[in-house]
Amino acid sequence: MTIIDYDKLLLERLNKLPQAYVECRDTRHLWYTDQDLHLEGEISGRQRVERVLSCSRCGTVKTEHYALQTAMNGVQRLTSVGYRYTYPPEYTIPEMGRADAPREILRASRFRAGTT
Ligand SMILES: [Zn+2]
Repeated sequence: MTIIDYDKLLLERLNKLPQAYVECRDTRHLWYTDQDLHLEGEISGRQRVERVLSCSRCGTVKTEHYALQTAMNGVQRLTSVGYRYTYPPEYTIPEMGRADAPREILRASRFRAGTT
């Protein structure tokens, strides 16, 4: 039986990816607003509001959904009811979920990339 070394597989994958993808995974995305908060429909009788953000570094798109609630005193709230990410091709790294310490390995791979 072969033992699969997921740490090494992750490192090999990281070394082939655009550094922008790896940097976003390490330090989070750089969001800017594509479409600001706008009415998008209804959810369970409440108004549903949407906002679309894009990452200026890697191109990931985040779509956020909120329910608009109005309290008895007239004060409104936007309560998060979910969000969806649309990643660029090859952004998803299946090995991240199987490696022993994926974020630490990812960080070290960026450290090496910056020193060569
Ligand atoms: Zn990004």
